[in-house]
Amino acid sequence: MGNVGAKETPILLTPDGRRIDGRLKNELRPVRIQAGALRHADGSAFVEWGHNKVMAAVYGPREVHPRHLQQNHKAVIQCRYNMAAFSVDERKRPGLDRRSQEISKVIAEAFDSVVFAEEFPRTSIDVYIEVLQANAGTRCAGLVAASVALADAGIPMVDLLPAVAVGKVGGEIVLDLKKEEDNFGEADLPMALVPQSGRLVLLQMEGHMTEEELGRALDLGVQGCRDIYEKMKAALRERYTLTPIAEAAR
Ligand code: ADP
Repeated sequence: MGNVGAKETPILLTPDGRRIDGRLKNELRPVRIQAGALRHADGSAFVEWGHNKVMAAVYGPREVHPRHLQQNHKAVIQCRYNMAAFSVDERKRPGLDRRSQEISKVIAEAFDSVVFAEEFPRTSIDVYIEVLQANAGTRCAGLVAASVALADAGIPMVDLLPAVAVGKVGGEIVLDLKKEEDNFGEADLPMALVPQSGRLVLLQMEGHMTEEELGRALDLGVQGCRDIYEKMKAALRERYTLTPIAEAAR
């Protein structure tokens, strides 16, 4: 969990079950998804999720750089997750750190299990995720943005990949942690779901919870992913049902 800026522990859960921002335990932060937010990428999406703002751009299938990563039987999916220097309270050191490398890797692996990569041998599908403003759950917001961007680029996939983090806060299992809950909570568990099959293709966990709590957390996360999935499909529908005039004006 990001523990940057940690001071004294705020009250995370009131006796009547309200969270630090007034949400209930099973409530998502407001989520807004715009498919096709950039002109020059093959596919793109912008996601505002609580105070997170994340842009994703997809290029490809295209020539592989660096060349030695090329695979003869499939496309290689390359992902770069980056947090802007101005995305957090105290300026983040620019550039790829270990955390960004880890997140880039787990996101690429998640997409590897849904993209029909065998259809594009010896090519690269490049996914760029830029976190402009961070408030916990950025790997999930990044995955959602990238997934919509891949669909916008016309990359064939088994399904979209909705994602959300669940966790344990004030002794309770809650959906979609915000920054204070991530910093001061007991556990953080980001996940990504293939809605069609119910398969989880990303599952990480930091902190502690019991086996029984883990079961409830997974159930809550799967439901959260299904809600996000509806928003992702709606964003794509909105993009592709625009009139030609509205499209030209974008
Ligand atoms: P995620 O964003 O997927 O929840 P983490 O749990 O690692 O990933 O981070 C939680 C939050 O901590 C981030 O969303 C961000 O708000 C903050 N954070 C992470 N890394 C840094 C950093 N280097 N500097 C400042 N804040 C950070």
